Amino acid sequence: MTIEITLLGTGSPIPDPNRAGPSTLIRAGGQQLLVDCGRGVLQRLAAAGAGANTLSALLLTHLHSDHIADLGDLLITRWVSTFTPEAPPLPIIGPPGTAEVVEATLRAFGHDIGYRIAHHDDLTAPPGVDVREHTTGPVRDRDGVTITVAPTDHRPVTPTIGFRIEHRDENGTASVVMAGDTVPCESLDELAAGADALVHTVIRDDLIERLPQQRIRDICDYHSSVAQAAATAKRAGVGTLVLTHYVPALVPGQEDQWRALAAAEFDGPIELGNDLHRVEVSARG
Ligand SMILES: [Zn+2]
Ligand SMILES: [Zn+2]
Repeated sequence: MTIEITLLGTGSPIPDPNRAGPSTLIRAGGQQLLVDCGRGVLQRLAAAGAGANTLSALLLTHLHSDHIADLGDLLITRWVSTFTPEAPPLPIIGPPGTAEVVEATLRAFGHDIGYRIAHHDDLTAPPGVDVREHTTGPVRDRDGVTITVAPTDHRPVTPTIGFRIEHRDENGTASVVMAGDTVPCESLDELAAGADALVHTVIRDDLIERLPQQRIRDICDYHSSVAQAAATAKRAGVGTLVLTHYVPALVPGQEDQWRALAAAEFDGPIELGNDLHRVEVSARG
């Protein structure tokens, strides 16, 4: 019983030559769940052996631009590269506001959609989507893989959500929680309780707070530091802590510095790295 986590994009809003925007691929029970779709997500999906047309669902933690930057690319590319007739719509699960963003994105690509429908006989309708907006509770149960949602705290960005993905069979249940961008909060602690892995976005407040631009320092208001993410992992009793969305970008060679900040709060395994870093999570029993 396993869940495979691939950090597709470990970057942030600041463009980085080596880090795509926030996005994570979860493989469980034959399903591919994409969590957020930041800059460069389709290139990273290709590198991970997946594609827009192989995804089972798209999960959005919130509607900040860095987390949805390539939504249009994802929707259009899935549409033009799906060759099965009557393909089901892409399930999209996100917080309230998601349907409006998806509709507006499809509208922005309206000319393109029109050109392709006019040109190709077998494209007769715009990209199919099935958008569900949630802030709490169980939201999907398919082939032994369940998804539960809970509110996170990324104010003034609201509402924002985290996801708990569980894969179960007769041998046990493996679970991964995707925190997204959030400060520590009780509802995330509850969502993550006992999970086998917690994937958490992090910032180095010790580095960011030294910068002269107030607008950059503002980001400390609504993100967890490495230590705070690790403290959440400890409170929730998770198995493995996976750090991503490094602000500032994680400089190669400084991995141990980041790991030490987390290890001061959390005793378990700590994973971090570059885009395409892969972590396999098993049920702890
Ligand atoms: Zn955000
Ligand atoms: Zn972000």
